[in-house]
Amino acid sequence: GESVVVVGAGQAGCQVAVSLREQGHRGPITLIGDEQAAPYQRPPLTKDYLAGQTDLAGLVLRQDSYYGDNGIELVRGERVVGVDRQARVAVLGCARTVSYEHLVFATGARPRTLPIPGAEHVLNLRTVADADAIRRKLDGRTGLDVVVIGGGFIGLEFAAVVRKLRHEVTVVETQPQVMQRAVSAETARHLTNRHRSEGVQVLTGTGVAAVREGLVELTDGTVLVADLVVAGIGVVPNTEVAQRAGLAVDDGIVVDAHLRTADQRVHAVGDCARFASTLTGGLTRLESVQNATDQAATVASAILGGAEPYTALPWFWSDQYDLKLQIAGLTDGHDRAVTVGDPAEGRFSVFCFKDDRLVGVEACNRPIDFLMGRRILEAGNALTPEIVASPGFDLRTSRQ
Ligand code: FAD
Repeated sequence: GESVVVVGAGQAGCQVAVSLREQGHRGPITLIGDEQAAPYQRPPLTKDYLAGQTDLAGLVLRQDSYYGDNGIELVRGERVVGVDRQARVAVLGCARTVSYEHLVFATGARPRTLPIPGAEHVLNLRTVADADAIRRKLDGRTGLDVVVIGGGFIGLEFAAVVRKLRHEVTVVETQPQVMQRAVSAETARHLTNRHRSEGVQVLTGTGVAAVREGLVELTDGTVLVADLVVAGIGVVPNTEVAQRAGLAVDDGIVVDAHLRTADQRVHAVGDCARFASTLTGGLTRLESVQNATDQAATVASAILGGAEPYTALPWFWSDQYDLKLQIAGLTDGHDRAVTVGDPAEGRFSVFCFKDDRLVGVEACNRPIDFLMGRRILEAGNALTPEIVASPGFDLRTSRQ
């Protein structure tokens, strides 16, 4: 079989190796990651891991023995610094070279840094090392003043856990609402209210001007006391190695609907990939476990000669307090939203439409709506706003 080099050993990279073996690939596989830990899942970093309810062994995607048993060479703590596409070799920081017939970029993304004075006092949360550094700061204490910069998924999940650990938490968000681009106004409002009712201070429409030892200065002049400052203000895809190798890069490594670059021997998957989406009709970059896993499986089959484009329906989840938010489809850019259920009870779903077509469902503690929403979206079914808004509408009983 042909040799495959996977650059980046996170959710997507690990899955490329796993899927290749599961689909019968016989050639050598080298999985190269610059983190010390074996490939692991990131979602628990803002959930159970941060709360101290699971350890690294509970995060890893495969046991250590899996790699050797399946003929996968896992190289940890080493960066790929260059790719020579003519010679077909990947060059590691230690100067080792690994030749390939197929190379997959699965380099993920890194936290965006704040362009403000004192940014060096701000911690990020992307890796297990980041989570450990934050846990050391919290150190089993209570009542610390914690400032969270950014009211996105990571900021809000982090805020919920740290609040449960009985710290004083303030979330600072520059947009007029939290999760501005990620969810509908209804869902955002509900989450904001829930955080406030838990005692988290949520400040919207406010930026951070500077951070100093123990203090955070906001753009409106407010000064917050802070024992710990953590930012979740989005990520930047890791595209530098691909760019230096002469591949097209535009907020992600640009690939076609088959996740292939202009070089047919080179693919990109997961958070680092900007792909031609059959769903949106444009170039899209997604950041989710579903996307990383499904894209990896698509590329594994492409390497083995398959010709299927990537068409999986995106889905996502977030846990905050006892709220389980599950999102099917892409609700970004919807022009109409219909809420069913009871937001006051914390059990509701928001059906999002664009040009009268269902584009996504945000289910809050309504897992059936999420599952049914996924099915309807996958089938390309036209559920209209009128049907959803009609009295007694229930996905469990309606024949879609
Ligand atoms: P990554 O997992 O980032 O892996 C890329 C790896 O490549 C990294 O280890 C990186 O260090 C390494 N690398 C980069 N460049 C090189 C190089 N040149 N050489 C060698 N190695 C390199 N998604 C959900 O769906 N649900 C959730 O609830 C959720 N919660 C999350 C919570 C947190 C705190 C975070 C950070 C993310 C969360 N996500 C969630 C997003 C999800 O984890 C990511 O979308 C997913 O990890 C992407 O996988 P990836 O393999 O593309 O990138």
